[in-house]
Amino acid sequence: MPEEVADKEFNIDKEKHFSEWYNELLWRAELIDQRYNVKGFLVHRPNATIAENLIEEMFEKELQRRGHKPMRFPAVIPEENFEKEAEHVEGFSPNVFWITHGGSTKLEKKLALRPTSETAMYIMYAQWIRSYRDLPFKAYQRCQVWRYETKHTRPLLRDREFYWIEAHDVFESKREAERQVIEDMEITEEIIHNKLGIPFLYFRRPSWDKFAGAEYTFGADALIASGRVLQLPSTHFLGQNFSKTFGISFIDKDGNERHPWQTCYGPAVGRILAAVIAVHGDNKGCVFPFEIAPIQIVIVPIFKTGVDIDAINTKCLMLHEKLKKEYRVEFDESDKQPGAKFYYWELRGVPIRIEVGEKELHEAKLTIVRRDTGKREMIDEKELDKYLKNVGKEILKNLKEKADKDFNSRLFEAKTKEELKKLADKGGFIKVPFCSIDSDGKPCADVIKEETGLEVRGVLHGREEAAKGKCIICGREAKLMVYLAKSY
Ligand SMILES: [Zn+2]
Repeated sequence: MPEEVADKEFNIDKEKHFSEWYNELLWRAELIDQRYNVKGFLVHRPNATIAENLIEEMFEKELQRRGHKPMRFPAVIPEENFEKEAEHVEGFSPNVFWITHGGSTKLEKKLALRPTSETAMYIMYAQWIRSYRDLPFKAYQRCQVWRYETKHTRPLLRDREFYWIEAHDVFESKREAERQVIEDMEITEEIIHNKLGIPFLYFRRPSWDKFAGAEYTFGADALIASGRVLQLPSTHFLGQNFSKTFGISFIDKDGNERHPWQTCYGPAVGRILAAVIAVHGDNKGCVFPFEIAPIQIVIVPIFKTGVDIDAINTKCLMLHEKLKKEYRVEFDESDKQPGAKFYYWELRGVPIRIEVGEKELHEAKLTIVRRDTGKREMIDEKELDKYLKNVGKEILKNLKEKADKDFNSRLFEAKTKEELKKLADKGGFIKVPFCSIDSDGKPCADVIKEETGLEVRGVLHGREEAAKGKCIICGREAKLMVYLAKSY
């Protein structure tokens, strides 16, 4: 990237021009390069990759803590595996990349580049699972998957190649499998809300929007771009659909052969990073939570006429040496003006800037500026360790509170179609009485989509909400309350 582009102050109104803000930011903050010459395939630059790795580690730690073991499965899946589960093949086949040749030889079996790994893993699960003693069986892999998206691609949000973790679990009983679906939602809450500060709601998806081959799906919806939804991890109750078609069975305690119950869960890390950028970022650029910031601290020397440049540089260098043992830290030694350096690091979302000038040098102090609040304060140099130990939590708390407040201000309710139409363009969720999230409710969902652009996201998980009134479209007695929103 030419220097003059990189150094220009970033200032785009995020609320008014979200798409421009988002795309420019991915480029200017050196997160993503879209110039690779295959459409829908991205280059993740270090600033994105470091944050993505840290997010993936959070998930792996949490999954392992709850009994999952890591594995690696092949990226290619023979066509015959795919065809075993009818609904699954129907759902995924329009999006599969196929490998048909090895060199110039036509392959005997054409091979799918995995769009998701059920059909690669469950063939092997059928070999391994024999007895109730082998259960529960909980495994995951961290990998990339490929889907030939036919809709307009959007970097990190809808790509033809993306990185995720997929967990695939097997249980003796339905009850245990359903408990796992709840646990997957708890993991999502623990990481995405509590560690990354992104609020979301979990919805039981309507039958027309569930994972292909699942009995039911819960999907997490965050809000970006003035209240449009972004789907975050979903978790699926597969019932016995796959265990029956893939021949996974076990001998239970009474000596009977039975099919086990399965679940799968798939956090996609690029989307989660996109949510962090979109939710916390401001008009000046990225605002990273401290824990996943690709660079956590930047040290900027401040030179004014007549100052002892060498002494300031030495102090910065010593500080850099000390801090890099524990943090991801940069010392900006470039010959740019301080203002240009500030823009540069603010754009990249570095949570903490430490300034060292003449005053700091002589008084053994440091000036610290927080990216999330813009607050500037001077501290005693010997207080630095303590300050840094706490500041990550404070930044996260602030980001989370701000995001929660915005999210909670975007929850609406409509009792009639007229009320709905008035709220349709406000952004956020609108709760309405509705007839059914089984296939007989689909015509009503289609009317809503056509007349307002809103989608039925599903029934809220975790809160009992009694249905009241009549379906706002067909007038039948409402069986449930559903949430509507526009997707980004
Ligand atoms: Zn209806």
